[in-house]
Amino acid sequence: MLRVGKKTAEDTQTPNNEIESSVTEWSEKVTSLLWLINADHILPQSYVPEGLENLPNSNVQVVEEAGRAFVRMTQNMDEPLYVANGYISATAQQNLYESKRQQYLEEGYTEERASMVIVDEYFPGGADEHQLGLTFDVCTDAALNLDVDFGLTPQGQWLEEHAWEYGFIFRGAEGAPKIYKPWQLRYVGETHAAIMEKLHLSLDEYLAYLEDKGTSYFSDVGAMHLDLIVYFTDSLSEIPLKIREVSGDNNGHYIVVCYR
Ligand SMILES: [Zn+2]
Repeated sequence: MLRVGKKTAEDTQTPNNEIESSVTEWSEKVTSLLWLINADHILPQSYVPEGLENLPNSNVQVVEEAGRAFVRMTQNMDEPLYVANGYISATAQQNLYESKRQQYLEEGYTEERASMVIVDEYFPGGADEHQLGLTFDVCTDAALNLDVDFGLTPQGQWLEEHAWEYGFIFRGAEGAPKIYKPWQLRYVGETHAAIMEKLHLSLDEYLAYLEDKGTSYFSDVGAMHLDLIVYFTDSLSEIPLKIREVSGDNNGHYIVVCYR
C-alpha cells in the first residue's frame, strides 16, 4: 500500500517485521561466489553446485550465471577464447590426482617423492575450486592447450584489463601455490570483482581484508558508480536494509553488500 502524508517518528525507524522478512529472504539467496577452496578449505566430495549448464557449443559445464557473464565477455573480445575446463567433480579431480601420482611412480619416483611433488601440482578431490562451477581454464588454442604465456597473448591482455567488468578475476598465482596458472579465471560477480580491481587484491587477500575491517566503505564502484558498504559478519540480522547481495565464505560468515 502506498502511504502518503507526514512522516511520523515511526516511519523513520525500520519496522522489526520488515527486517525479519528481509533477513529470511536474503538467507535463502546466499551465494557461493566468494567461496575460497583449497587444501585448507575443502568441499564435501558430494558437493555439486546448483544450476550447472553447458557453455554454448561446448561440453564444459559451469554455473548458469557465470556462463552468461562469460559469453557476454567473449562477445566483446576481438579474438576467440576457448574454455578447456569449467566444473570438475570431486571424483574426476581425485582420479586426475591419482593418475598423475601413478605417472610419477612409473617414472621411477619413490612413493614419498611422488606424494610430495603431486601436492604442489594438483589438488585432490574436494580441494580444487573447479568443483564450484565458477572457475574457467581459458586458452587461445582450439586444441585446448593451456599456456603459461597466456598473459602475453592479445586475449590475455584484454582480459587483464576488462575481465573484472564482467565479474571475473584471475586466480593465477593462487589455488595451487607452487604452480602459476595464468589461464585460470574465477567468477565472483561484478560487484566484488570491481572492488578487488580497485583495491588490487586477490580473492584470498580480499576476504582477509574484509574480515579485518568488519565494515568497509567503497565509493564509485564499477560501471554503475555505486557507493557501497560491505559487512563481514556472522549474522544477517545485524545488517540494516538496502542489501544488494549476500555471499557466504564457506567458513560460517556472510559477506553482505549494501547500498549506502
Ligand atoms: Zn584450472
